[in-house]
Amino acid sequence: MQNKLATVSQILPFSCVDGPGSRLVIFLQGCNYNCKNCHNPHTINWCDHCGDCISTCPTQALTLVTTKGISRINWDSDLCTQCDICLSVCPKQSSPKTRQYGIDSLVTLIHHQRHFINGITVSGGEASLQLPFIIELFKAIKSTEALSHLTCMIDTNGSLSISGWHKLLPVLDGAMIDLKAWQEETHRYITGRDHHRVFQSLELLSQHAKLYEVRLLHIPNISDFDSEIEAVATYLKQLPNSVRIKLNAFQHHGVTGEARQWGTCSEAQMLELAARLTERGVTNLVLPNVYL
Ligand code: SF4
Ligand code: SF4
Repeated sequence: MQNKLATVSQILPFSCVDGPGSRLVIFLQGCNYNCKNCHNPHTINWCDHCGDCISTCPTQALTLVTTKGISRINWDSDLCTQCDICLSVCPKQSSPKTRQYGIDSLVTLIHHQRHFINGITVSGGEASLQLPFIIELFKAIKSTEALSHLTCMIDTNGSLSISGWHKLLPVLDGAMIDLKAWQEETHRYITGRDHHRVFQSLELLSQHAKLYEVRLLHIPNISDFDSEIEAVATYLKQLPNSVRIKLNAFQHHGVTGEARQWGTCSEAQMLELAARLTERGVTNLVLPNVYL
């Protein structure tokens, strides 16, 4: 009997940008970074059911339900218009619009989609914070004959420990990892955390041929991939040839706080960074399709 639960902020039944092919994406709530440039800051923390958002909902989709003396937010998705007012007022950078899923209910959902997808991606927030659930989910997928064609991948900030990766590797088909800055101090400035585990994760996954993609977000005058171009190019070149190097362009969508004052990345700036990496021998670059 599988009884693990995950806190899920969103499920996309179909995505073409979260790993190879078409994929069902499960976004898990909670993150151990606090990135200034986060596009989904309401996925960072867990709701503590304070109830501050209830009165702001224009459609009465939020109520406080008390069971056995414990009060919890109830979100009625049928009444919700996705106006996101509740997200903007939450003092915890959280959301009342999360749901708890068990393994069985997610496997049932995936089963319904199985003819339309090539695999599953767990994302976040930081997905690896709910590692035991992910391992059980991937095991369940791989042991279900009708789902055995699906690849199981994780989209992560790379902060998982080596011992955590060793638990996940037997059921993992690949990973997409964000490298948010080259220099330690820049990474700490942007994310609030150091990045030694990110490099450990990249190395381990490369060794096991499970690194699908490294993602670099170019924030002009903030991230340091351009100012550290020689070191960045040298590092990227020694990764396995199969690894995609995905360049993302910083935009303001969803961003709050001081990062709203940062300049966005234009197509010209993106192309310049790509050209400088290419000149230095970096291959397998993937560029954005849109700059919005
Ligand atoms: S997003 Fe939904 S729950 Fe939140 S305030 Fe708007 S209608 Fe209410
Ligand atoms: S979503 Fe935020 S404001 Fe609403 S109950 Fe949870 S913690 Fe409080």
